[in-house]
Amino acid sequence: MSPENTAAELVIHAEWILPLEPADAVLADHAVAIRDGDIVSVLPRQEALAIDTDERVDLPGHALIPGLVNAHGHAPMSLLRGFADDLPLMPWLEEHIWPAEQAHASDEFVRDGAALAMAEMILAGTTTFSDMYYFPNVVADLVQEAGMRCQLAAPVLDFPSPWGSGPDEYISKCLALRDECRNRDRLQVAFGPHAPYTVSEPVLERLATYAAELDMPVHMHLHETAAEVLNAVEATGERPLDTLRRIGLLGPRTQCVHMTDLGAQDIAALAETGAHVVHCPQSNMKLASGTCPVTRLLEAGVNVALGTDGAASNNDLNLFDEMHTAALLAKLHDDDPSALPAATALHMATLGGARALGLDHRIGSIAPGKAADLVAVDLTGPSTQPLYNPVSQIVYACNGSQVNHVWIAGQRLLHDRRLTTLDLTDTLARARHWRGVIAP
Ligand SMILES: [Zn+2]
Repeated sequence: MSPENTAAELVIHAEWILPLEPADAVLADHAVAIRDGDIVSVLPRQEALAIDTDERVDLPGHALIPGLVNAHGHAPMSLLRGFADDLPLMPWLEEHIWPAEQAHASDEFVRDGAALAMAEMILAGTTTFSDMYYFPNVVADLVQEAGMRCQLAAPVLDFPSPWGSGPDEYISKCLALRDECRNRDRLQVAFGPHAPYTVSEPVLERLATYAAELDMPVHMHLHETAAEVLNAVEATGERPLDTLRRIGLLGPRTQCVHMTDLGAQDIAALAETGAHVVHCPQSNMKLASGTCPVTRLLEAGVNVALGTDGAASNNDLNLFDEMHTAALLAKLHDDDPSALPAATALHMATLGGARALGLDHRIGSIAPGKAADLVAVDLTGPSTQPLYNPVSQIVYACNGSQVNHVWIAGQRLLHDRRLTTLDLTDTLARARHWRGVIAP
């Protein structure tokens, strides 16, 4: 054994380890050794028993997977879960969601909603999430307290909101937040231009300049519906994706969320520029927005991540559900049961998400040198037995309640389904309080 394997802070033994790299590998009776929050080795059980460690966790019947990456959401909107359902995108936004946010969005709303969302996400194995919402500074503080990992996509809009008066203020607040978060290693800040129909081209051009100069990610709702694309073509003669490419906003830092209504030319543009797609199958289905052609994107070499979107359009923040839906939707859409197999869905929810966020050097797989963001899934229950293939059970038979333990950078945030950094009783009491405020 090499010297770096002889001491650790924590060694986790699991019946199966799904490292994601190499793809499709299933390591039976292996262990992960962790030091200073990072993975130092992945090795067979017997060899791991020789490691001198402060703590040893044995997980028979469990699969250990990389922490799941929810690459698109609006965490504070969990307080609007079930507030307005069964409506198309624009009436849903314009007549229900935006007025409710105008009336209630405040730092208190954001803190309580984000706490609820984070509790739900940790309980279902999500360790990293991307969040686009007002008051991202409040989410930043809460993320740090709770120990999660987060990309804050600070919103940019043409019009005033509870977070700012217009583009100048949004951009300056985003840059200030970036400075504040520079030394917080579990946080990164991205520009979050809301959508092509809410952010004008001159503002997008400014963001393109800043993003290139500062090497900042850009996270944007794009081609969410065919109507969005058609309206843009009628108004400008150009598809939104073509506009972004022309002004230099489409590249390896760009995270394009939704991406329905894609033609061959759009898919080629994404592949040529290295832009990422964040697929939100449940939100797209619930709002009948359209279907993202995931199979064709993957075949073209485009990286695809998974996101839940906000709880107001899903209505949960559960990536097990999202993997399951992504796989089934692709099969139905392609009329091909071999489309988007389970391993591909798991890849999208881990390494695909990490790549989209530019964090794949730190997270997304179980490999030496990466952060110990790990999720232990109990596969001994009736819904996951008998077990022929752990990947199949995780994608097609788990609902998140099988997640028993979650570590982020080696810190256990979920211990036997108990949250260790968030007060669940208080969080739920605050959610009930808001229900009375929003719909008295
Ligand atoms: Zn969204």
